[in-house]
Amino acid sequence: MSDGRDESTLREQARAWYEANWDPDLTVGEWFLRMMTDRWAYPSWPENWWGRGLPTPLAKVVREERRRVGALGPPSGIGPSLLAHLLFDHGTEEQTARYLWAMTVQGWTTCQMLSEPDAGSDLAGARCRAERDGDEWVITGSKIWTSLADVVDFGMLLARTDWTVPKHAGLTFFLIRRDQPGVEIRPLRQMTGDAKFNQVFFNEARVPEADVLGPVGSGWAVTRTFLAHERNSFNPASHEGGPFGKVPLDARVGDVVADLRRPMSSNASGRGIGRILDDLVDRFDRAHDPIVRQQLAALHTQRQLMTYTNLRARAGAGARPLPGVEGPISKLTVSALTRAQREVGLAVQGPYGTLTGTHAASPQFQYFALSTPSISIAGGTDEIQRNTMGERVLGLPSEPRDGADRPFGETPATGSTT
Ligand SMILES: Cc1cc2nc3c(=O)[nH]c(=O)nc-3n(C[C@H](O)[C@H](O)[C@H](O)COP(=O)(O)OP(=O)(O)OC[C@H]3O[C@@H](n4cnc5c(N)ncnc54)[C@H](O)[C@@H]3O)c2cc1C
Repeated sequence: MSDGRDESTLREQARAWYEANWDPDLTVGEWFLRMMTDRWAYPSWPENWWGRGLPTPLAKVVREERRRVGALGPPSGIGPSLLAHLLFDHGTEEQTARYLWAMTVQGWTTCQMLSEPDAGSDLAGARCRAERDGDEWVITGSKIWTSLADVVDFGMLLARTDWTVPKHAGLTFFLIRRDQPGVEIRPLRQMTGDAKFNQVFFNEARVPEADVLGPVGSGWAVTRTFLAHERNSFNPASHEGGPFGKVPLDARVGDVVADLRRPMSSNASGRGIGRILDDLVDRFDRAHDPIVRQQLAALHTQRQLMTYTNLRARAGAGARPLPGVEGPISKLTVSALTRAQREVGLAVQGPYGTLTGTHAASPQFQYFALSTPSISIAGGTDEIQRNTMGERVLGLPSEPRDGADRPFGETPATGSTT
């Protein structure tokens, strides 16, 4: 089968495939398997890994055709959008095959175990310890702010394997099973009322040698790839549009699609804020207010810029470029857009904007408003994105990195920011 490299041929091929193959009576598992084996699930993945090597603008065409027939997208979230890229760049053949299949066809989910109580922005200061024991590694220490650690199958873990070398050289990246003795997970409550992130404690938890990602001591290189893709993952365009989190593989796929379309579906939360905002403007009769109209126009421009920047930056750069400048720009744009949406939505409601829960005009909007500050922190704070752009894109002098070249074991536990 020859892949269409021009938009119209590709569109025809994708349309023909989805029209012939979408069947709401399949189970979710059967549908995911069908999309994967025929290479329509993740068309931007490499051709030798169930993809078609398509650049982002062309992959978007496939997504549009999938939506047109109303089919469920493949699993979204950080497994397929983030770990997949780490595997392509750093994984062994065996690991890549095993984890890609697990995350797509077998429905496994993952979380990121990077931040520690004393190492958030300063990720390379990680102190979680990994020690070799035969053909296994023994993990001891703690990770914090770990989103969804309580429900996933495995975590992407950054740990220190060598204390005698400078901080960036002594790290290794692991894939660790969550459900095992030695892993304790405690939820952390957020101001939304949810407890979607956790502190994770490792007390001699185990990772087999086969689940070390990249060479021992190369954890920082893997983390750099991770961070580049993570920043970009805040842009909706980097997800395939399927369900986030676990879906029952034996459910009827048509029922899952119907559930996702419900406005308050947990899987739909965070999306459709533009539509909810328009609804608030109508309900509070503010559509004729010139200031509100200006604000809505500005929001529209920001949304268009976000999509355009992402597509432009990736167009022509090959199928799977490592996000460069577009990563921090994308993350900062999403932060700014999210804050602006919150400001407009609260202003439109006037005093009613102070109400939450069932008293609120839109409980979903109020939830969004309360969770807005987290966008400027999660995935690297806005300040860190600006530092990255300043140093790596604009070529500005780098921050002081005192002690970054002495053995990490000699550095104090707190106080370093490099
Ligand atoms: C909703 C949410 C979900 C998260 N999920 C995860 C997850 O799943 N896994 C995970 O590992 N982590 C997760 N995090 C953690 C997140 O990555 C960290 O909170 C973030 O990197 C900041 O680290 P910190 O909290 O330790 O803040 P700190 O690093 O202590 O920073 C405190 C303040 O100082 C500023 N600052 C620090 N260093 C510099 C510098 N060099 N230059 C300028 N300013 C600086 C920061 O911008 C910030 O304002 C999540 C966070 C949130 C909010």
